[in-house]
Amino acid sequence: MRNSTSSSKMKGLLVLTALFVAVFGKVTFEGDQVLRITAKDAEQITLLKELHEPMLGLDFWMDPVHESLPVDVRVPFHSLQAVRAFLAYNQIQYNVMIENVQDLLDDEEREMVKYRALPRSTDDFVYTTYHNLNSIYSFIDMLVAEHSNLVSKIVIGQSYENRPLNVLKFSTGANRPGLWIDTGIHSREWVTQASGIWFAKKIVTDYGRDPVLTDILNNYDIFLEIVTNPDGFAYTHSNDRMWRKTRKPNSGSICVGVDPNRNWDAGFGGGGSSGSPCSETYRGPSAHSEPEVKAIVDFVKSHGNLKAFVSIHSYSQMLLYPYGYTSTAAKDKTELHELARKAISELQSLYNTSYKYGSIITTIYQASGGTVDWTYNQGIKYSYTFELRDTGRYGFLLPANQIVPTAEETWLALIAIMEHAKNNPY
Ligand SMILES: [Zn+2]
Repeated sequence: MRNSTSSSKMKGLLVLTALFVAVFGKVTFEGDQVLRITAKDAEQITLLKELHEPMLGLDFWMDPVHESLPVDVRVPFHSLQAVRAFLAYNQIQYNVMIENVQDLLDDEEREMVKYRALPRSTDDFVYTTYHNLNSIYSFIDMLVAEHSNLVSKIVIGQSYENRPLNVLKFSTGANRPGLWIDTGIHSREWVTQASGIWFAKKIVTDYGRDPVLTDILNNYDIFLEIVTNPDGFAYTHSNDRMWRKTRKPNSGSICVGVDPNRNWDAGFGGGGSSGSPCSETYRGPSAHSEPEVKAIVDFVKSHGNLKAFVSIHSYSQMLLYPYGYTSTAAKDKTELHELARKAISELQSLYNTSYKYGSIITTIYQASGGTVDWTYNQGIKYSYTFELRDTGRYGFLLPANQIVPTAEETWLALIAIMEHAKNNPY
C-alpha cells in the first residue's frame, strides 16, 4: 500500500512539475537550499537514505554512502521544513551551503546574457562565462575553420534528439595512436564543458610553442568531445539547470533519461547504479542503450589504438582510476596511482587546489557501469576520471569567474597524463 500511495503521489508531483515546465518554460529554484549533512555514524547514514522518498523531491548532489563523506542535497522549498525537522529530530548535523539556489542561477544568467552575441573568431570568444549549445557548436566550427591544418571535426553519432555528437580531432599526421578527453557527459556539470572549450583553444595556441604539447601532438592525436550529452545540456539551458541524465524517454515510466555514467558494459547493473527510471543514477534498460554512450563505444572500438581516456566530471576535486564496480584492484594500479599523484601535484602547483586521488570505489563509492571501467577493460591503460572544482561551496553551480582557473590547473594534470602515456608506450 505504502508504495502505491507514494508512487501515485510522486506521479502527481512529477506531472505537476511537467505542467509547470510546460506553462512557464523553465523550472525555478526559488527558495531551494543546498544542505551539507554530516552523518556521525552508519545509523545516521541509514536514516538519511529515507530521504530518497520521492514525494520530498530531493536532489542528492552527494549521496549518503558512508559517514566519512558529507552528504550534499538540494532541498526544494516545499520540503525544507520537513527535512529540517527530520534532521533535528534525529540529531543529524548539517549546514546550509547555498541559501537560495535561484540567486546563483540568476547571477549565472546575468553573466551569460552579457555575452550573447556570437564572436567572429575564437580569439574574441569569451572563455570566462558559460555558453549555450549553439554557442559551443559555433566555437567548434570557428576553431576548425581557423586551424584546418591542425584540427578537424568528426561526428561520431547522433544524440537521441538527433543532435550531432561532435568530436574535435587534433592531428599532425596520419595513423597515430590517440588520446581521448570528454567533458559534459553529465549535463549540469557546466564547468566541465566550459573547460573543454578552453582546452581546445589551448591546444591550437600551444602547438608549435609549448615543447611538451608539441611533442605529444607530433606523435599522438588528441580527441576532445566537449558536449558529450548535448540533449541534456540543451535542456539545462531551456528547462532545468539541474538536469544530469540523457533525454531519452523510458518505456513504462513518466521519468525521462538514463545516467550515461552507469550505462557502460562494465559491471553493468551492479551496486552503485539504480534500476529505477526515476533515479538520477538509472542505468538504463541495457548496457550502451544510450546513443551518446554507444557512439563512443563504437568510436573506441573502430579506432582501436587509444592510449589514454579521460572523462571529466564535477564536482569534489578528485582524480580517479578504475575500478568503480569492483574492489578488485586494477592490474596497473601502482602505475595509475603514481601517475595520479604526479598529475594532481602539477594541478596543485598553479593555484594550490587540493585533490584526492585513488580508485573510484575506494575514493568515492561503488559505481557500476562507469565510462573508464569500460575503457580500461578495453585495454586503454591510462583511463582516468576527474571531478573538477569545487568541494561543495557551490557544487554544480560554480561561478563563471572560476572557469578559467579551473581549466588552467586541470590542463597541467592532463598534460602530465598525456606525456606519461607518450613516454610509456604499451
Ligand atoms: Zn558527473
